[in-house]
Order: sequence, then structure tokens, then C-alpha cells
Amino acid sequence: MVVRLVIGLTLTAVAFALAGRRVLTLYRLGASGQPVEPDRTRDVGTRLAAVVTEVFGQRKLLKWSGAGAAHFAVFWGFVILGATIVEGYGALFDRDFHIPLIGTMAWLGATEDVFIVAVLVGLVAFAAIRVRQSPERAGRRSRFFGSHTGAAWLVLFMIFNVMWTLLLCRGAQINTGHFPFEHGAFASQAVADLIEPAGRDANDVLEDVGLLGTLGVVLTFLVLVVHSKHLHIFLAPFNVALSRRPRGLGALLPVYSGGKPMDWEDPGEDDKIGRGTIEDFTWKGLLDFATCTECGRCQSQCPAWNTDKPLSPKLLIMTLRDHALAKAPYLLAASDEARAALPEADRAEAERPLVGGQDVNGVIDPDVLWSCVTCGACVEQCPVDIEHVDHIVDMRRYQVMMESAFPKEAGSMMRNLERKGDPWGRGKKARLEWAVGLPFEVKVLDGEVPDDIEYLYWVGCAGSLDDNAKKTSRAVAELLHEAQVGFAVLGREEGCTGDAARRMGNEMLFQELARQNVETLNAAFGERETKKIVVTCAHCFNALGNEYPQMGGHYEVVHHTELLAKLVEEGRLVPANEVDAAVTYHDPCYLGRHNRVFSPPRAILGSVPGVRLTEMPRNKERSFCCGAGGSRMWMEETIGTRINETRTDEALSTKPDLVTAACPYCIVMLTDGVATRKQEGKADESVRVTDVSEVLLRSIRRRADMADPAPAAEPEPASAEAAAAEPAPAETGSD
Ligand code: SF4
Ligand code: SF4
Repeated sequence: MVVRLVIGLTLTAVAFALAGRRVLTLYRLGASGQPVEPDRTRDVGTRLAAVVTEVFGQRKLLKWSGAGAAHFAVFWGFVILGATIVEGYGALFDRDFHIPLIGTMAWLGATEDVFIVAVLVGLVAFAAIRVRQSPERAGRRSRFFGSHTGAAWLVLFMIFNVMWTLLLCRGAQINTGHFPFEHGAFASQAVADLIEPAGRDANDVLEDVGLLGTLGVVLTFLVLVVHSKHLHIFLAPFNVALSRRPRGLGALLPVYSGGKPMDWEDPGEDDKIGRGTIEDFTWKGLLDFATCTECGRCQSQCPAWNTDKPLSPKLLIMTLRDHALAKAPYLLAASDEARAALPEADRAEAERPLVGGQDVNGVIDPDVLWSCVTCGACVEQCPVDIEHVDHIVDMRRYQVMMESAFPKEAGSMMRNLERKGDPWGRGKKARLEWAVGLPFEVKVLDGEVPDDIEYLYWVGCAGSLDDNAKKTSRAVAELLHEAQVGFAVLGREEGCTGDAARRMGNEMLFQELARQNVETLNAAFGERETKKIVVTCAHCFNALGNEYPQMGGHYEVVHHTELLAKLVEEGRLVPANEVDAAVTYHDPCYLGRHNRVFSPPRAILGSVPGVRLTEMPRNKERSFCCGAGGSRMWMEETIGTRINETRTDEALSTKPDLVTAACPYCIVMLTDGVATRKQEGKADESVRVTDVSEVLLRSIRRRADMADPAPAAEPEPASAEAAAAEPAPAETGSD
């Protein structure tokens, strides 16, 4: 007894000293990060609820059925089997120790055994998954590609060792008469039956070996965990609790400089915009990096990685973590003298630029940074709620605002925004071209929104200027008119929302554009209580609804699919004409993942007689980007394969007549993809790309038809030029 007590306590003291020293270093490193705004300690209830569902409920992990179930078993094994560690330490002091009150109850012994078995089964499943999906077998397509697979195997082996030593100890305890439970521990009893023939003395020894083995492996595991990616075991609950709520998508965070909100009207000389060094990241950023489990779920969903770009959200986070740890001696040194005295390798790491090519030994390659489409698939999948998009945009902000470094093609888009107020550089005079030829007058505001107008229709740059998107703008206007919804547009007063500039990292330009729009909108709405805006572009939808509140613009923003689905449900729009078509629907990232609008577009398609909807393999939360987000629409795609073509192939795999979407950016990218595949002879000439609103318009029973059963005449165009320029909406719907 004394020997095992001395060995057990000595092991504990050594392990806690080693782990404690590491934890202190990690804490000091995390505390050296910049402050986080908005304050992450608000909304305690929401945060605790997130910990319950994400960590204890394993919500995201369980979406990955096999691996999720295995992780659930091992996670809960860790929690429940904490009781056996208490029993183990108690047994160091008193062989007959049991947990007070409940420690001899059969259900506790049975529960402990159930979880020992569950963990063992979970380990077998993990091993099978790791073998089947090993980088050696699956290459770049393995979600473990680039992860520390050796360390992962070591941890699986250690958990296995904890389980068998625990069973050995418990079995021997039964045979020596020192087991706390008389009944229930079925697995321990099976081991006891196995080793019972060895005799009493041997079982005494096996009890000591099992007990010290269990505690020794657990303590070694503790030291290993704080020195490896398995740090997530301790950090995950904190990271989940302190992440953005309700989720890290939608709005981008405002810029802070020196811990204060950036004053864009009077920027100071010392203001630093974005993150240009690892120490510019907030403590939450550093916590994100340390919490990554290297599971690769983000990587497996990333459109950039899946089209052979150099960006993997997992590798990005791992690289930032490794750099932070490598730079820690420099960052935590007490003085300049102490820094100067550091080994050459530490000083060299400290001097590496955060973003830069191989020529300057940069930590993150510019091609990695500029490959991101900000689709949010990584954030959506991450089981520990890491906020990749925020970090990527923050690094872009520094590159654009502080270094003037960005892909040169994006320069003309930004110049157009600065000079003309739209990415195409068409200017205000073109803002109403989309409405030419409509068979009714579209009201253009020239003051405050009048009482008979319910919605301000935000047409957007693409909706006003891109030929395909103009068809959607017209279809939506026709449908609103048909449903007798009062709407008006801003016309020349509408400007770009600045979404592309913001995601590019040009926060200054976004601020200018957004401030102007907020002024215009606030003036238009005046004292109105309900400030309703309907919008067709998913990017405008996100900017107006989620980002403009950051600058004083508070509106009730609905996407056109939400409004149209409601009008159909209320019977104000009646889809009566059959549209005999096989249809698939692409979820725009900024409508679906970023804003959780999944059902309305499907409800619209479902309401149209004759439409046969087939989902693509990746849909809703797991939808694959079209390639246009994150300002990528305005940059060349020279590395790997094209994202829009990959998505187009997935759409074409459903054998559609119509590929539908609900965002003009997606329509542009998919139209381009389908055209390419037609040229290659890989798509049927009849396949069309269209917005869901145009499908609805084709089906709608017009009020004029209801009044007069004779077929409605084609609408009169406003002018001959308009007739030539603008095809009739109902026919263009499927284009
Ligand atoms: S936002 Fe999309 S493209 Fe960017 S890293 Fe995440 S998954 Fe990849
Ligand atoms: S960032 Fe999240 S999803 Fe990606 S590897 Fe790390 S833990 Fe897994």
C-alpha cells in the first residue's frame, strides 16, 4: 500500500509540474493577445446553451454519423470515467475506498463498465476511419492530410492503455475483495473471471499494476495533451463559450485599432488596420488556433481546397498556431535584452512576415489568403467553433489597407466602386435600365417612403447592371406588382452595399459606401417604424441586414425568396401554370449558411406545378460555393480547377432542365459554368440557369388572366429600344 501510494503521488507531482509549466506558458501567450470586441462575456445564457449543445451534445460531430458516434462515446467516456479516477486516487490511500453516497451502487459500476466498453468500441471505429481515410490512401482528399497523424495514433494508443489497465485493476479488485461494487460491473467481472485462476497473490499484484498503470497513463496523457493538438479536450468548452453568437458567420466584425473602434472619419497615424503580425490577433484568435483538433472537417468542405488551391482552413489555423508557439519565446521575453539573447532560430521566427511568399519566408502565402471565397463552410463544420473567416478577412484588411498588397485584377473593381459606385463602373445613370419595358411603372423614390409603399426594393448593382440578374429584378418586380405589394426603388440614389470591398479587405471603401447608403436609407424611411427592405442579392441581403446595424442602419431586411414564399402561402400569388422541368437548386452561401435561409426557395419551387426538384449531393448547410464570394468574382482563378465548374458538374449530375439559385452572383458563375460545359459537349444545350423567382413567374396566374380567361398578351414594352434590349420576362425566366 505504501509503495503504491508513494509511486502514485510522485507520478502525480511530476505530471502536474510538467503540465502546469506548459499551461502557464500557454496562458501567458493567450493573454498577450489583443482585446476582443464585442465583449464575449455577454449573453451568458446563450453561451452556456452553446456549450451544452456543441460540447456535451456534440451537435456538429453527430452530423458525421460514424465518426460522430465514436467521438460521442469517447467524449462521454472521459466524463463518466472521471469517477474511476476518483476511485483510483482514493484506493491509493484506502484499498476499500468508494465514492461517498453513490460509490457502491450497482448502476454506477454498470455505467462505468458500459463506458469502458463504449470507449474501446469508439477506438476501433476511430482506427478504422483513420486507416480508411489516411492521407497515404486518399492523398489531398483525406481530411487528415497535413494533420499530425502520428500524434493522433499515439493518443488513441494511450486511451486504449487507460481502458485495459482500468479493466485489469477492477477485475483484480473483484478477486481481492476490494471492489466497491457487488453487482453491475459486467466487463470488470468478465476480466475478474479470466484472471481469477492466477490466485490471490497474483491478483494483489495485478491490482497494483492496474491501478498504477491507469494513473500513470492518465498522467502521461495529461502532459501529452497540453503539449499537443489534444489541448482541445480542455479548451473546446471555452472556445465554444467565447465564440461569436449565434454563430461566426453573417456580419464581419468591425475594425478595432489599439482596443478602440476605428474612427474612419479621422484615422490616426498610429492606427493599425487588420492583423499584420501574430501578436495583432486577439486572445480569442489565439484561443482558436490552440483549440484546433486537426480533424480536417473544415478542409474537407472547403471549395478552395477541393479545387486544388493552396488554402486549407485547417492548415491555415495550424500554421498560425505553430507560428504563435514558435514566436512565444520572443513575445514573452521580459525585455529587449532578453529578446536579443534568444537563440538565432527564435529571432528568425519572430522576424518572419505574417503574409508573404517563399522569397520572404512568409508564414501565410498570399495565394492561401486570396483563395478564400468566405463561404463559411469551415466555420459551419468546425466542431469547436473556430472563426476562420474573421481571421482571413483580418489578414486581408492589413494587406490591403496597410500594405496596398492585393491581386491586381481586384484593383479595377475597387476603382470602379470608388469612382462610379458599382463594381462594373457603369455609374448611376444605368441604375434603372433593368426596369425599362416593364408593363407597369416602377415607383422611384424622390423623398421619404410614402404610406402606400410597404417595401423598399433594393435592386443591387448586379440586379441593376448584369444582364442575367436584370431578368431576376424584373421577375421580382412583376411578382410584387402581381401580388399588389407596394414597393419603390431608390434608382440613382442606390449605391453598392460594399460587400465585395469589405470581403476584399478594403474596409475604408466599405465604410464610405455603407455610410452613404445608410444616410440615404435613413432619410428615405424618416420616422417610419417599420423599415422594410426586400433584396434579391444574397450579398446585399447580408450587408444590409447584418452589417449596416454596425453603422446605424437598422432595417427589416427580407430576401425576395422569403417574401415570395410568404405571398404564395398567403394565396396572393397563385402558381397555376405547369412548368414541366427537372430542377435543381443551389444554396447561395450568403443566403443559406450565413443567414440560414434554406426553406423559402425550396417552398417556392415546391409550389410550382410540374417542377421536379432534385437536390445536389451537397446542399443546405453543406452547399458548395459557386466561387464568387469573398470578392473572388472580381479576381482571376488561375490555380487548380474552377470552383464554379465543380459546382456546375454537381448540378448537372442531377440531370436538370433548370439549374436554379437565388443570388445574382451564383447565377453569373453557374451560367458561366454551364456555358463551358456546353462548349465541351458535356451539357445538354437545353439546360438553363435561372433564379427561382423566374420559375415562379412562369407559373403564376396573372390577375389579368383571372379577370379575362383569354390568353394574356405580351406586355407592351416602354419603347422600341427597350423591346430590342429587353426580352419579355416570362420567356427569359429560364435563360
Ligand atoms: S470560408 Fe470557404 S473558402 Fe474560405 S477557408 Fe472557409 S471553407 Fe475555405
Ligand atoms: S479548424 Fe475546426 S474543423 Fe478545422 S481541423 Fe481545426 S477543429 Fe477541425
